[in-house]
Amino acid sequence: MKQTRSTCPYCGVGCGVIIQSQGDTITGVRGDTTHPANFGRLCTKGSTLHLTASPAIAKSVRLLAPQRRSVRGGVLENCTWELALQTAATRFAALVQQHGANAVGFYVSGQLLTEDYYVFNKLAKGLVGTNNIDTNSRLCMSSAVAGYKKTLGADAPPACYEDVDHAATIFMVGSNTAWAHPVLFRRIEDAKMRNPALKIIFCDPRKTDTAEIADLYLPVQPGTDVMLFNGLLHIMLWENWIDTAYIAQHTEDFEALKKTVRDYTVEKVSAVCGIAKEDLFLAAQWFSQSKATLSLYCQGLNQSSSGTDKNMALINLHLATGQIGKPGAGPFSLTGQPNAMGGREVGGLANLLSAHRDLSNPMHREEVAALWGVDSVPESPGKTAVEMFQAAADGEIKALWIACTNPAQSMPDQALVRAALKKAEFVVVQEAYGSTATAAFADVLLPATTWGEKTGTVTNSERRISRVRAAVAAPGQTRHDWAIACDFAQRLAPLLHPERAPLFSYPLEDAETAVEMIWNEHRESTRGRDLDITGLSYALLEEAPRQWPMPEGAVQGKARLYEDGRFPTETGRAHFANVSFRPVAEPRESRFPFSLITGRLRDQWHCMSRTGTVGRLFAHVAEPCIQMHPQDMDRRSLHAGDLVQVTSKRGSIVVPVQASQEVALTQAFMAMHWGSEYLSGCSTTGEALAGVNALTTSAFCPDSKQPELKHAAVKIEKATLPWSLLAVAWLGESEALKVWLELRALMPVFSFATCVPFSNQVSLENANDARHGLLFRAAAYEAASEEVLNKIEALMGLQLADAMRFQDRSKGIRRTVRLVQAGDAAQLQGFLLAGDVSSEAWIKTLLQQQLPAQTYGRLLLVPGGQAPVAVEAAGKQICTCFNVTQDAIESQLSACAGDEKQRLQSLQTALKCGSNCGSCLPELKRLVRQTQHLSA
Ligand code: SF4
Repeated sequence: MKQTRSTCPYCGVGCGVIIQSQGDTITGVRGDTTHPANFGRLCTKGSTLHLTASPAIAKSVRLLAPQRRSVRGGVLENCTWELALQTAATRFAALVQQHGANAVGFYVSGQLLTEDYYVFNKLAKGLVGTNNIDTNSRLCMSSAVAGYKKTLGADAPPACYEDVDHAATIFMVGSNTAWAHPVLFRRIEDAKMRNPALKIIFCDPRKTDTAEIADLYLPVQPGTDVMLFNGLLHIMLWENWIDTAYIAQHTEDFEALKKTVRDYTVEKVSAVCGIAKEDLFLAAQWFSQSKATLSLYCQGLNQSSSGTDKNMALINLHLATGQIGKPGAGPFSLTGQPNAMGGREVGGLANLLSAHRDLSNPMHREEVAALWGVDSVPESPGKTAVEMFQAAADGEIKALWIACTNPAQSMPDQALVRAALKKAEFVVVQEAYGSTATAAFADVLLPATTWGEKTGTVTNSERRISRVRAAVAAPGQTRHDWAIACDFAQRLAPLLHPERAPLFSYPLEDAETAVEMIWNEHRESTRGRDLDITGLSYALLEEAPRQWPMPEGAVQGKARLYEDGRFPTETGRAHFANVSFRPVAEPRESRFPFSLITGRLRDQWHCMSRTGTVGRLFAHVAEPCIQMHPQDMDRRSLHAGDLVQVTSKRGSIVVPVQASQEVALTQAFMAMHWGSEYLSGCSTTGEALAGVNALTTSAFCPDSKQPELKHAAVKIEKATLPWSLLAVAWLGESEALKVWLELRALMPVFSFATCVPFSNQVSLENANDARHGLLFRAAAYEAASEEVLNKIEALMGLQLADAMRFQDRSKGIRRTVRLVQAGDAAQLQGFLLAGDVSSEAWIKTLLQQQLPAQTYGRLLLVPGGQAPVAVEAAGKQICTCFNVTQDAIESQLSACAGDEKQRLQSLQTALKCGSNCGSCLPELKRLVRQTQHLSA
């Protein structure tokens, strides 16, 4: 067995992993105990990485050969790399020559490696001559970039993970850290356990599992963070809790802000933010008076139409109290993606240049032009993410190159994005997965390598650069992202600039040499800059991951910044930002009375192109839903599982509703992951529904251009769809995903449809015993046609001679079940319930738990039939490592006595839950707390 040291490709924590492989198959993964980001820990997503890399998945959803449409609207057909890239180069060159360089745009990804990012940036700005290159990192952290630059002078998170261990107060705001950055959350739990005096404030509109660790929870109203931060500063000034010496020595522009925050009285802030006055005082006191205060924040601040202001208002608090530049203190933005930081470093955004240089600075442009060996780089800022798709929809941008990202799922206002993808004359999609919604819009599809196959570097939230290494060979005809970009550039260059020397002379067939050459070029671009890494080499990265800056001569990177109180501004002083509160772009109003908030699930990643291939990752949250406060549901006579129509000014979707105490009154929550790949249907006007981002707004922050994905005003009404369908079947790993792709095409036949992988629930240890299946659920105004039902049955393996059937066409009812012999017993292999799904619970349980089913005989076919003996469902899986369900936990807790800590320990001793990766610990603690009164 080969062991390869690499990095997790999911979140910005940037955990080190050891990949185990045999030949060209990845067989296992474990945490790297030597990696300073995780010291061997992995969360549910990281610890199941190997399952997402199975050959069966590669066979079904990976793109393994280039494809091309010979005519627009025709079918995609396999072709050679030569034909695909030559077609792309010819079309791009023709459009640039006819309409100018700004007629094309590149939309790339925070999941690319730094080397990939670097060549894409050079391709757009150096070769094509356009700054139309932006990235999905724009949707993730551009407000943090703008906030840091405007206040501290450089885009550099000043703190590091180790500061969690030194902090006396941790202020978590706009971040469900427990689910989005689980391994960092483990570190916070450890710090709290070691030091119970550590104060933790958690501020978020939703009382998520992150709140479990908080000493103080601030239920801020959506979008009112600037009001809150200015209000806290108001209290600090009033109480004289500010650090006047620090302000005087190391900052400027405080007076103007001081005047502004005079109006942010406690009464006003309390009323607008929905936070009790005494809690505001307590938060202000803990923040300002603690020995060291660390703020951890993420999309709740960034994905906002005032995202930059929110970032700056929080940084103001750190500057005013001197809580920066010392162990345990500072504003620390958590990056969502694994390499959003690397993208920033190479300037891979429409307004940036390499090594944190600015496009608007003529000297910076000259420096980069000299480095690349071109006459100049274009001056005018390029189109940012939302602007780029708007320009494509308007016909201004005529060709789009999309790499390693899925805008037809992840961008807000899907109606606009899909119109843009249709309108563009030429769309290239460079992807590892052919299953993304965006792939369907491609004229040319280019198969890329992915985690486990790639080599290069990434930078995590704490400025730490880690190596990513290939464990197995590139499958099929896939190529590395940097190699695709360079090959394209080598073909495009003679068409656009035949007179120029080649800019992309990296050896395409020697990945190790090429990525090091690219990285060294990037490294040289940082010389003398705030992120100077001229003292770092691939050889040093072989020893250990390092933080930047690490200039020539340094033996280590810098753990934390601004310890000397000097900032990279013209005066060396940090700037206070004089910010005022602005409400969300789309406040709730009578026609749209709910605030829709989006966020993450614990076990899924982004648009789920990787995590969505593994059934076990659906055990925690099995199907799409929208969550509402129970009282809001009562008022509308809604019950759990009812279908609701959720409508914003831009679009509408149908989705089941669930009650949640995490969600406040007049708010609703839906996970960002549910795109049209998993949740669709057809509107009354005949359009296919496009997942959660059909609802979200593209209104963006004027400074950072980051859209307000976190908030949209919506109305929620009961959807009356009298006819429903549920089909579930075991299919085999590769087959299940192939069938999923085919069933997706049927989703728009219904008003509501969801199609998700389905599995039996097994522990991680027994992952090889996992069964692979599919669940298809739909609803409509009237019964589906025989043809559609037959097709679904055929795909689910139910159109076989041994299947049992009942049908009442007059009522639109059909039931089909298929049993197979397993030893002495017959087990359900699959079923379809159409027109009446009231027996769902027990029949689905029979199938999922592989229980003997022969005794249920004809009852399986009787509409509304109930099992003669109760068939107990296993319940929701909470601990995926040991397959422990909520029912088992609650049952065990009823027998555990003692205080919360003792009951948690007893629970873990009995069931082992939460004792491996720990991702379920916050949920376990909540269940312990919720059942504490029973124990008493
Ligand atoms: Fe990967 Fe989880 Fe670590 Fe994030 S916390 S890098 S998802 S293992």
